[in-house]
Amino acid sequence: MKNFDIIIIGAGPGGSVAAKVASENGYSTCTLEKELLGEKGRYKACGGAAAWELIEEINYPEEKIGRVIESLELHHVDGESYSKKGKGAVVWRSTFDKFLTDMAVDSGALLKDNELMINIEKVEDFYKISTNKDKYIAKYVIAADGVSSPTLKLLGWPFFKSQDVILTITKEMKTTKSYIDKILGSDTVHLFFGIKDLIPVGYAWLFPKTDKITVGWGNQIDLVKNSRKEFEKFWTLPYVKEALKNSTMEIFKPHLIPVGVRPKLYEENVFAVGDAGGMVDPISGKGIPYAMMSGQIAIETIKSCEKKDKLDKLGTTYEKSLDRRFLKILKAKRIARDKIFKDDESLKKFLKLWEKHRASEIVMKKLLD
Ligand SMILES: Cc1cc2nc3c(=O)[nH]c(=O)nc-3n(C[C@H](O)[C@H](O)[C@H](O)COP(=O)(O)OP(=O)(O)OC[C@H]3O[C@@H](n4cnc5c(N)ncnc54)[C@H](O)[C@@H]3O)c2cc1C
Repeated sequence: MKNFDIIIIGAGPGGSVAAKVASENGYSTCTLEKELLGEKGRYKACGGAAAWELIEEINYPEEKIGRVIESLELHHVDGESYSKKGKGAVVWRSTFDKFLTDMAVDSGALLKDNELMINIEKVEDFYKISTNKDKYIAKYVIAADGVSSPTLKLLGWPFFKSQDVILTITKEMKTTKSYIDKILGSDTVHLFFGIKDLIPVGYAWLFPKTDKITVGWGNQIDLVKNSRKEFEKFWTLPYVKEALKNSTMEIFKPHLIPVGVRPKLYEENVFAVGDAGGMVDPISGKGIPYAMMSGQIAIETIKSCEKKDKLDKLGTTYEKSLDRRFLKILKAKRIARDKIFKDDESLKKFLKLWEKHRASEIVMKKLLD
């Protein structure tokens, strides 16, 4: 039985940032990741869009970026389109997540990849964790194992409401850089909306990377009747057909996105981080920065409560810090999402406002009302 202060389940952005911060603060830390990471990391279905501030903050190397982005084109299927300027990047999640995992390992955190967590149980003041290869014991557990979080499921935590889960389909399409530049533009990502004629609550996207296009579609799961047919509606839009002409599919992957906060984020030394806690922007689906921030906040919470000898305050401190940093805004956006996707008129009003304002500004200043 291997003993650690903190065991982290999942080496996505949430888990790797938690591992790095924990190790830097002197905690013995082990991350368990079910996938084999190797040199190149593991595939993760994701648009991979990241704000430029994030790329700079972590010194993400230019050569690892899939494409530098300068604008966002918002298409409504009725014919209107809206343009939003702003620098960002699209990254391959295999490369991006491996970069963060390497940072954690460089800080001294132990990584056990290709190791599937299969059981967790509380024994007195500790957690016993079993994988397909070994057994571990830890005082604290960080559940950073994604939206379906096997850790939280085994511990009997409640799952998300169905209105708070988006079903997505991703296809990675290989084409050529010159064709992407010609059809989609060299520095533009494209989002597609339409409540009546495309997707009731969600959107679809074309995210160009170097010589590939990440094609995605997402709809609120309880509104999906036939995902294949509904995806087909997007796939056969004239603009999309043209963009994907002569391309070949390399990967097809359905995945879930949580767009509402999990009913519980902490209990008895277990912290839900990132997608496991539902920390995703309910309007855009952006989750990478929130996973990273929540991983950091979970460890800072442990450190500050231990220092003040206030371990009974771990849960409230964690939730208050999350709210202060970003979660309060995500919760407000969850309420606004229902207004935005009420009908196409409301949606177009939002898209028009989004051209000039940040979504958080539209929501917090109630510009939609
Ligand atoms: C289609 C799609 C498009 C998206 N596009 C964007 C985007 O453009 N920009 C953005 O910011 N966000 C995007 N997101 C959201 C983003 O991907 C997530 O919010 C982010 O990955 C959350 O990180 P995480 O660390 O919480 O979890 P994850 O990245 O899901 O990592 C969880 C890790 O846990 C591991 N794991 C699971 N079970 C076990 C187990 N039993 N034992 C050991 N390991 C386990 C998994 O293998 C995985 O590596 C998108 C999501 C989807 C589905």
